[in-house]
Amino acid sequence: MPKWSKEALIGFVPVLFIFMAFIGLNVVPILIAAALVGALFMVLKMRGGIAVGAGNDRKRKKAAPAKLTFEEIGGQDNAKQELREALDFLNRHEEIKKFGIRPLKGILLTGPPGTGKTLMAKAAAHYTNSVFVAASGSEFVEMYVGVGAGRIRDLFKDARTRAAKENKQSAIIFIDEIDVIGGKREGGQQREYDQTLNQLLTEMDGIYSSESPKILVIAATNRKEMLDSALLRPGRFDRHIQVDLPDKKGRSHILNLHAGNKPLHPNVDLDKIAEEAYGFSGAQLESVMNEAAIYTMRENSEMIHHRHLSMAIDKVMMGERSDRESNLEEKKRVAIHELGHAIMAELVRPGSVKQVALSPRGKALGYVRHNPQQEQYLYTKSFLEEQIMIALAGAASEEIYYGGRSTGSSNDFEQSISIVETMMKSGLTSLGIVNMNMVTTEELMKENNTILEELMGRTKQLLLQHHQIFDHSLDILMREEILSGEQFRCQFRENTLQPA
Ligand code: ATP
Repeated sequence: MPKWSKEALIGFVPVLFIFMAFIGLNVVPILIAAALVGALFMVLKMRGGIAVGAGNDRKRKKAAPAKLTFEEIGGQDNAKQELREALDFLNRHEEIKKFGIRPLKGILLTGPPGTGKTLMAKAAAHYTNSVFVAASGSEFVEMYVGVGAGRIRDLFKDARTRAAKENKQSAIIFIDEIDVIGGKREGGQQREYDQTLNQLLTEMDGIYSSESPKILVIAATNRKEMLDSALLRPGRFDRHIQVDLPDKKGRSHILNLHAGNKPLHPNVDLDKIAEEAYGFSGAQLESVMNEAAIYTMRENSEMIHHRHLSMAIDKVMMGERSDRESNLEEKKRVAIHELGHAIMAELVRPGSVKQVALSPRGKALGYVRHNPQQEQYLYTKSFLEEQIMIALAGAASEEIYYGGRSTGSSNDFEQSISIVETMMKSGLTSLGIVNMNMVTTEELMKENNTILEELMGRTKQLLLQHHQIFDHSLDILMREEILSGEQFRCQFRENTLQPA
């Protein structure tokens, strides 16, 4: 049934009754009968007997069988280890009972999108020989109060019946995007979400160690700070496992796993590709392997070569090449913008530029590719400032050469603001060590502007000192549309004024 049909029906029925009354029909018995049927329907629905909008439920019940093992998840060694240890509670239930340990009811997986949280939950089901039932937080959000809560009841009921049918001792219920229903409860708002969350808490409180099947709820979110504290207290989701973006070793492992069914040329070094794919999530790495295979097929090549993988990284990072034609003036502005980024990058991180290109990709009209960086987990204030200066350098050079900016810098500014926010949260600004809630928006804006204006000034000054590089590189870039890191560094050496 289309989504709007319910609303259309609600509008149409009263009009029909008014019309019937108008032409003299006695509508009272019909109204009483309709009210009785409606009440009966609601009671059945609240008890989980009728599924309105059963599309989602059907989707949920068809959840893929959990055959995935931990070995099929790349990287995430710590997370996998922690999860296995937690799951041993489910496997060693006799000992748990002997020591009077309360059962583990909920595990919360937190981390950025595409890092393998769903895979972890599936592997957990396999590891504990449990049935796997999955749902997503957004499936519980409905216009009508009580429907979400009914669905939570259905979910637990479904897990129990499936375990009984498949003769399993335990069931794992996976709820993705738990923040949609488990967000902080505030005042009297969001009543529907509250009821859904309350129902989840009630179901979790009703899980006992002696119960069969044993139920474990695994939830995933990338916004843990949004969750209601009631969800996180002991006895509910009291195990938190961080599923982070993979490091180089992890990325290499993931690439190897996804290369398993693909014809990879023996000369391809996946460690190198992992180095290039700095900051990629598992899902992005899977996409890199897939896109590389597509490029190979399009070229009628037999095997995936390094260049296919490099092209795939570009595509995943910056989007597909587009055939947007820009006019000469626009092209020159883009070239100046990109050269600004490249010069600043080379000044603060010598040897870091891999390529400057004018070919349009995704939404960008040009881009600078950087060489793989060293894995880093801590950043100093000066490192972050330099990062901001690289981001601002595009707009700075447009200002120098055109006297004003264009709309092409919005992403750079977003990136700069997000770095400034990290600096503020880490106590690296003149605001001192602060909780962001202590500071007013005006104060934050003022500090943000002060930092960005100061860094913009420094960026312009440095770029002006190196204007010869602009002049010489611009011609080549306009002509060739591509400048390799080596070509660029050559210009850099030839045109940098050596101190006397
Ligand atoms: P979201 O938060 O968006 O729901 P998620 O963390 O649950 O994402 P998954 O759905 O588990 O991510 O991963 C999506 C896809 O990415 C997987 O089907 C798999 O192909 C690939 N993937 C992600 N992480 C890994 C990994 N660690 N090892 C192997 N493949 C991975």
